[in-house]
Amino acid sequence: MRTDSDSKTSSESQKTRSGLLAKCGFIIPTFFVRDRDGSPEDPNRPVMTVADSPKKRKRAPSPTRGIPLHTGEPKVINTASDNMTSEAELQAKVATALAVFDAALDDRRANKTYDGERERILRTEEEDAWDRESKPKSTSRSEDDRIEKCAATIIRVIREYERNVVFGNLPSEKLPGSDTLDMGGQFLTNKDRIDNESKVYEIAKMVPKGALLHLHFNAELHPERLLEQAREMENMYIRSIQPLLTQQDLDETETVFNVLDPSKVEPNVNIFSATYPGQGDNWKKEEFKWKVWMPWSEFQTKFEEQAFSEKYKQQEPTIVQEVPHSCAEPGQMSLSPAENWLKSKMVLSLDEAYGPAQTVNGVWARFNQATRCFKGLLNYEKVYKWYISKAIDRMIEEKVMYAELRPMLLDKFIPSNSGREEEQIDNAAQMRLIIDGVQAKQVELKKRDELHKFPFGLKIIYCTPRSIPIMKMRQEMKDCIKLKMQFPELICGFDLVGAEDRPFHIGYFKNELLAFRKTCEELNLDIPFMFHAGETLLDTGGSGDPQNSNLYEAVLLNSKRIGHGFSLMKHPHLVEKFKKTATSPGICIELCPISNELLHLCRNVKEHPFPELLAAGIPCTVNSDNPSLFSNSMSHEFYQIMVGAPTMSLYSWKQLARWSIDYSCLTKKEKAEGHAIFTRSWKHFCRDVVDRYSGLADELALALQPNGGNRLEIPEVKEAYRQAAERIETREIL
Ligand SMILES: [Zn+2]
Repeated sequence: MRTDSDSKTSSESQKTRSGLLAKCGFIIPTFFVRDRDGSPEDPNRPVMTVADSPKKRKRAPSPTRGIPLHTGEPKVINTASDNMTSEAELQAKVATALAVFDAALDDRRANKTYDGERERILRTEEEDAWDRESKPKSTSRSEDDRIEKCAATIIRVIREYERNVVFGNLPSEKLPGSDTLDMGGQFLTNKDRIDNESKVYEIAKMVPKGALLHLHFNAELHPERLLEQAREMENMYIRSIQPLLTQQDLDETETVFNVLDPSKVEPNVNIFSATYPGQGDNWKKEEFKWKVWMPWSEFQTKFEEQAFSEKYKQQEPTIVQEVPHSCAEPGQMSLSPAENWLKSKMVLSLDEAYGPAQTVNGVWARFNQATRCFKGLLNYEKVYKWYISKAIDRMIEEKVMYAELRPMLLDKFIPSNSGREEEQIDNAAQMRLIIDGVQAKQVELKKRDELHKFPFGLKIIYCTPRSIPIMKMRQEMKDCIKLKMQFPELICGFDLVGAEDRPFHIGYFKNELLAFRKTCEELNLDIPFMFHAGETLLDTGGSGDPQNSNLYEAVLLNSKRIGHGFSLMKHPHLVEKFKKTATSPGICIELCPISNELLHLCRNVKEHPFPELLAAGIPCTVNSDNPSLFSNSMSHEFYQIMVGAPTMSLYSWKQLARWSIDYSCLTKKEKAEGHAIFTRSWKHFCRDVVDRYSGLADELALALQPNGGNRLEIPEVKEAYRQAAERIETREIL
């Protein structure tokens, strides 16, 4: 607590500051101090200046009498006797000025010159636009270009209609009703409206998206699917870091899953008992290794016996996008109370993302806990291969043709189905499971003549946390090199991951990263760096020193791409290195706008810097990062980009998708093939948009036009939208 004796007088504190600054070699300026009673020894004694002394002011030369010597000085007001302008003269001058103004209003030449200059600026900006290569030439007579242009107009009209009517955020002095939302506002707040009412989102689902280049391995499928798989595993176990006795315990605890050898696990462990030994980090101690795990099936039964389970009983089955169509109730499944609770611990809620008390570190801690919870539900033999197949199904559904996944490979083994330690699956065997999973899926696609939907399979970016000690990092790099030599087609990059406001910054591993790069060069191994960098507002690499921004290392170590790049615009010099030019491909940024919003880098997509990054000429791609935790998808990301800035258009989508192929790790030949497939899908997509939505767009354009000076009343426009939308749904689609 601060006491009176702690506080210094202003002159004391001034003295201390001056002393410190002087020691640092700063020239200390003379401060203007109001107190004029200081002693001659007082360093804060006021110093008289010319302006301070009336006598000196009189003597001072005054080249512009009546005008302050410099800004900051009080103005000297002229007296009437000083002013030589009479009232009549002033009036005459004013009359002349007003006449000049009136005459200038009719100056058509000035207007024409101005309009010409304005036109030139707009044209230059248009010709220089980052997505110019995806736009047809204005002279083009191609039918495809005409249809594409038509599709672009349709999307713009529907978007602007939805901004005003479906979301309803109109400028007004009236307070908005409870139904009003802000298009491009908080994603989770808007999600229901987007999913159920937005035609722009409907179109975003249809867009061919090229490649998905930033996706964490565990995070593609929603948790329901993994919980469903866990039901069939008798040896799936759960542990907690505290006994679960109250609702507060449920809220506070962290849980982890694992497939274990039942013969090793201590029986009758009860997480719902006050004597449960899983407290804090007991689980790390050898003596508790087998004493903290409870069978997941037993956990679910006991959970239902607890008073708090009521809250988690599910009334209606959940609609799950990825539930197989062969189910009796396609797309629906019911979760047990324990499963519902678990899901709430994994998926980020509105309150956890946007609650007024939430902090950057708080939401990151919540995110990391959810990631650890997910890990055990996915990382075991049976589900690993199954997951590959389902993840590809989901990507195809989202019109993604290829992906580079980021698994965390710090854990050297995942459990086999038996859970026996001697049968664990190492990193190389995991890679084989991925390859087998991809091959099986390709055979299946080929049979259906659908290989073009996912022709190049998957590649893997080796990920390890930035928070590990140097010796461990060296081992990780060696493991990555080893895996690359075993699976040269599969391993395509190296990344350091984790919250950037925590140690270590990338430069901390400079020695190791340079050695890694040299090894790759000498052995001709292609493992480009694809760092998470600039995913922070502080931008100090967790060090408190801005010179440790991870963006410097991303450039110095020749990253092929970086994840996020949110803070890049703070570094004009680095921006130059990221730009694509005639002689350099630049460094591509894997944009993840929803992730950035939910992890508190911006309040909503309209505050995201993606339009600036793109306008600067930096190649970017659109990515979903962690869909299982963020309730998002690639279609949601494309939607957010479209509503995040009015400058975005159909052509912007096209350019972003094209860059995703250009900056992928596919071979030159595969990229050419990828572009050819993309171009075909794109034409089909544009025709589809025109066919489905041109009628609606016509009506909306009419409805939104001024009607005899008055816009149509909102309910009428809404009705037109509803009717038009109904017609679309019943229309035969090509
Ligand atoms: Zn990421």
